[in-house]
Amino acid sequence: MSQRWRTFCWKLAHDALPTRDNLVKRKIKTNPTCVFCGNKESLDHLFLDCEITKRIWSSSPLGLKISACPSPSTPSWFKNMFIYLHKISDNHKQLWPILVATMWAIWIHKNNIIFRKEKGFRESIGIVAINPQNLTNERKLTSWSWGDTI
Ligand SMILES: [Zn+2]
Repeated sequence: MSQRWRTFCWKLAHDALPTRDNLVKRKIKTNPTCVFCGNKESLDHLFLDCEITKRIWSSSPLGLKISACPSPSTPSWFKNMFIYLHKISDNHKQLWPILVATMWAIWIHKNNIIFRKEKGFRESIGIVAINPQNLTNERKLTSWSWGDTI
């Protein structure tokens, strides 16, 4: 796993990503709304509760139906899911990169919309969500001119 992904995973697991609610808590002025749907953004909202995010999960190769899950906090959900996917993976088919790549894609897209005023979010996230090869090839994924910020 690349250092960039490693840092991202650590921040996810420790609720240390600068989500908008975390920025507000740190008294950093920001617009608290989710860039995808307009509801209030939090870590849980961004990765699990947002309607757009739910669609991404269900159309991803993991086919996760988030609405049917209880809603644990994202850090513990991520840790449990990572361990579970690691357990059921074999050498030929690793599943955990899909989990990390999907969350990474959500995060990078959110930042691109905020900082680069990028349009066409649904189209481009769709490509990531339905093409497992793009998801499991980390180098390819990060080279998609998606920026370096996490
Ligand atoms: Zn949302």
